[in-house]
Amino acid sequence: MSMDAVRVRFAPSPTGYLHIGGARTALYDWLLARKTGGQFILRIEDTDRNRFVPDAVDDIKASLRWMGLTWDEGPEAGGTAGPYFQSERLDLYQKYAEELVQAGKAYYCFCSPERLAEMRKKQEEAKAASGYDRHCRELSPEEIEEHRAAGEPYVIRFKVPRTGKTKVRDELRGEMVFDHGTLDDFVILKSDGYPTYHLASVVDDHLMGISHVIRGEEWIISLPRHFLLYEAFGWQPPTFVHLPIFLSPDGKGKLSKRHGATGVREFKEKGYLPEALVNFLLLLGWHPSTDEEVFTLEEAAEAFSVERISTSPVSFSLDKLDWYNGIYLRRLSHEELAQRCLPFLQKDGLLPDPCPPERFAYLVRLMPLIQERIKLLSEISQAVGYFLQEEIEPPEPALIIGKKGTPEETVTILQETVAVIEALTDFGEENLEQTLRALADRLALKPGRVFMPIRVAVTGQAATPGLFELLAALGKQKVLNRLQQAITVLRKG
Ligand code: GLU
Repeated sequence: MSMDAVRVRFAPSPTGYLHIGGARTALYDWLLARKTGGQFILRIEDTDRNRFVPDAVDDIKASLRWMGLTWDEGPEAGGTAGPYFQSERLDLYQKYAEELVQAGKAYYCFCSPERLAEMRKKQEEAKAASGYDRHCRELSPEEIEEHRAAGEPYVIRFKVPRTGKTKVRDELRGEMVFDHGTLDDFVILKSDGYPTYHLASVVDDHLMGISHVIRGEEWIISLPRHFLLYEAFGWQPPTFVHLPIFLSPDGKGKLSKRHGATGVREFKEKGYLPEALVNFLLLLGWHPSTDEEVFTLEEAAEAFSVERISTSPVSFSLDKLDWYNGIYLRRLSHEELAQRCLPFLQKDGLLPDPCPPERFAYLVRLMPLIQERIKLLSEISQAVGYFLQEEIEPPEPALIIGKKGTPEETVTILQETVAVIEALTDFGEENLEQTLRALADRLALKPGRVFMPIRVAVTGQAATPGLFELLAALGKQKVLNRLQQAITVLRKG
C-alpha cells in the first residue's frame, strides 16, 4: 500500500456510548492519519432515529479526547466536507437516491409493512430464501404516478442485478466474490426521507474524499452492497480494511457486556489510564515488527502499518490491560500521578473541588509511597485515604493486637511508642526508623512485633507502604492522635 496521505473517518452511530471496539477503530484511523500526514475525520451517523441515545455524541467525543484521538474534521473541529452529522445531510442522500432512480438503478417501492410481513411469513413457511421479492421493481411509470398521487409512502430500493456476482476487495483479505443471488433489493432511502446506512455511508465516504475505510469485520457483509453502489454511481471505491473481532477472555465467543466493562467510559471510571487502554487496543489486532510491546501514541504512529493488522480474532485479556496500566502508572511523574488521582479522591470526598494548592502539594508528596502499590487509579482512596482524613475509624482491636500478641503487651508497645515519639523533634524517616528500632531493642521484642500495631493504629490497615515513610508523611500530630485512639480502643476491648 502506498503511504500517500490518507483521509480516514471514524463513523460511529450514536446509539450508545463509545465501545472499545469502536475505540480501536478510531485509534487505527488516527494512527494511519498521523503516520501519513493525512486527516482523521469524525462523522456522526445519526440516521437511526429510533435507537438514538441523546448523550452518546458527547460520550463519544469525550472518550476520543480522553484517549488523545483528536479529529481534524468533524463536530466542533469543522472542515470543508461537512456537515459531519448525517442528519444534517438528508437532502444530499435524497438527491443521490433520486439520481439512481432516474438512471434506472433504483426504484420506488410502495409495499406496505403488512405486505412485507405477509411476504416474510410465506417465505418462512416455504423455507424459501428471505429478502424482498422485488414486487415493485417493474412498476410502470403510470403505476408509480398513481401510488404517488394517492400519497402512499414509499422507500427507494437498489436494483441488484438478478444474475452475476460482485467482486469486492479488502486490503487484508484480498478479493472476495459475492453472488447476487444472495442479495436482495435493499432499501437505500426510507419512507421518512432518511437514508439507510449503506447509502449514507457510500455517499459520505465519496463526498468526504475518504481514501481508507477502517471498520470492524462485522461490516464485511455490507461490502457487496457498497461496491454495487459505488459502481452504480460511477465512483471509485476507497480501500477497505476490516478489523478482527474481539473474543471474550476465555476465547469462547465474541466479547460482550457479560464479560464486564466494554465502554471506554467504564474503563476510565475503573481507573485505567488512557495510555494503557490505547497501548492495549493497539496490540489487539495489530502486531509490530519487533518484540516491543510498549508504545506511546507517538511511537505507535511511527510504527503503525496496515499490513501488520491481523485478520484472526483476538482475545481480550484484562490481565494484559492491568499490566499496561501498571507500566504507565509507574512512568508518571509524582505531580502528574497526583493530577490523575485527584478526580477519584474528590469523588470519594477525600479532597475538595477545587483542591487548594497546599493540599495538592501534600498529595504529590504521598505519590512516591503508593506509585508502586496501586494497579488502578480508583484504588487511590483506599491507598491514601488515611493520610488525607483528619481522623480514621478506630481499627478493630484484633487487627491492632495481631495474631500472636496480647492486649496488655500491645498497649505497652503503643504507650512506649507515644512516649518516644512525643520526644522527637526530627520527624524524618531515618530518625523514626532509628528511634523505633531502638524501642524494639529496649522492649526486647522483634521489630515486627512493635511495628505492626503502630502501622494498624495509624492507618487502620495491615498492608501499607513502609512504616517510617508513612509516619513521616502523616506527621507527628496525626500519628500521636491515632496511637492514643488505638490505646483507648484496646483498653475498652
Ligand atoms: N455507523 C457504523 C457504526 O456504527 C459505521 C460503520 C462503518 O464504519 O462503515 O459502526
